[in-house]
Amino acid sequence: MSAPTLTIDLNALTSNWRALDRGTASGVQTAAVVKADAYGLGMPRVARALAAAGARRFFVAFAEEGAVLRQTLGQGPQICVLSGHMAGDTEMISDLDLTPMLNSIEQITRHLESLPGHPFGAQLDTGMKRYGMDEAEWEAIAPFVLEASPEMLISQLACGDDPDHAQNEAQLARFHAMTDGTGIPRSLAATAGILLGPRYHFDLTRPGIGLFGGYPYEAALPVVSLSLPVVQARAVMPGELVGYSATWTPEAPSMIATVLGGYADGIMRTLSNRAVLWDGDTPCQVVGRISMDAVTVDISHLETIPRSLDLLGPHQKIDDLAQTAGTIAYEILTGLSSRLERRYVEGGV
Ligand SMILES: *Cc1c(COP(=O)(O)O)cnc(C)c1O
Repeated sequence: MSAPTLTIDLNALTSNWRALDRGTASGVQTAAVVKADAYGLGMPRVARALAAAGARRFFVAFAEEGAVLRQTLGQGPQICVLSGHMAGDTEMISDLDLTPMLNSIEQITRHLESLPGHPFGAQLDTGMKRYGMDEAEWEAIAPFVLEASPEMLISQLACGDDPDHAQNEAQLARFHAMTDGTGIPRSLAATAGILLGPRYHFDLTRPGIGLFGGYPYEAALPVVSLSLPVVQARAVMPGELVGYSATWTPEAPSMIATVLGGYADGIMRTLSNRAVLWDGDTPCQVVGRISMDAVTVDISHLETIPRSLDLLGPHQKIDDLAQTAGTIAYEILTGLSSRLERRYVEGGV
């Protein structure tokens, strides 16, 4: 191994999808959200594994992602586009059989005029103020939209990862008020919403981060590990300074390893002097600044110089690293660069 290597366990991924699917009633469909290159893990391999496990409906953020996904999966699985039907996307939506989740009266008009009869869904704003039509817009246009037979009505929770937040119940009530009696399949829950319980499940759930082992799905199997090869090791004495801007010096004679991988790979500079890497079960402190391609690590307590050290693994999961970096696992995953070697584990069971 001479490149920093991201290992993606597709068996863990599909186990997570199946477990989330089992956690809802049998009439509830479980989709898979694979936007942003499947949260940085490689959409083609991730989507194929999920399709093989039984996922029949996928969500992406915009039409170009849907085009890549269609080429990967072929005809059959439904591909839903969360940004809806944007100007210029008509041909792609039509040729690649994408299902836009229409967000505004403007998008509804564009879609029904340019692709009459082409499947679509409608996205409703129940309080997050990001995507979708709000109550007033929906009230004005709902009869017209319902006549065109949308495939589904969806909305998104702003605070699903905080079960006690009053916004959840408020959004649930508004979603009911906007959709009860329509007879159209409904979807409100992403990963967090699934965990809020059956009242939030409706007809279809849309897990993303939970598939990849992230909070708030704490029962998830970890999917990723990230291993950084050791380039060299050297002794450093007290008073000698390590890394750019000379931010660290040892208190006692120390052995410092330089490992391959840096902020160009998504190993954020805010982890400088804070993160730990692991040699098996033994933690090793990052010392000095993280640079573009390298991290320096104190390995004084190790008996031998390891071939590599792990930034993500059994002792440090994506949410642990996110916490150290002051961010969320979503940003850690989607920031992992294309330069990392991606190795996929699959097969077996
Ligand atoms: C990203 C996204 C999801 C998936 O959310 P997770 O929190 O990753 O499960 C579901 N629905 C919408 C509308 C999204 O934007």
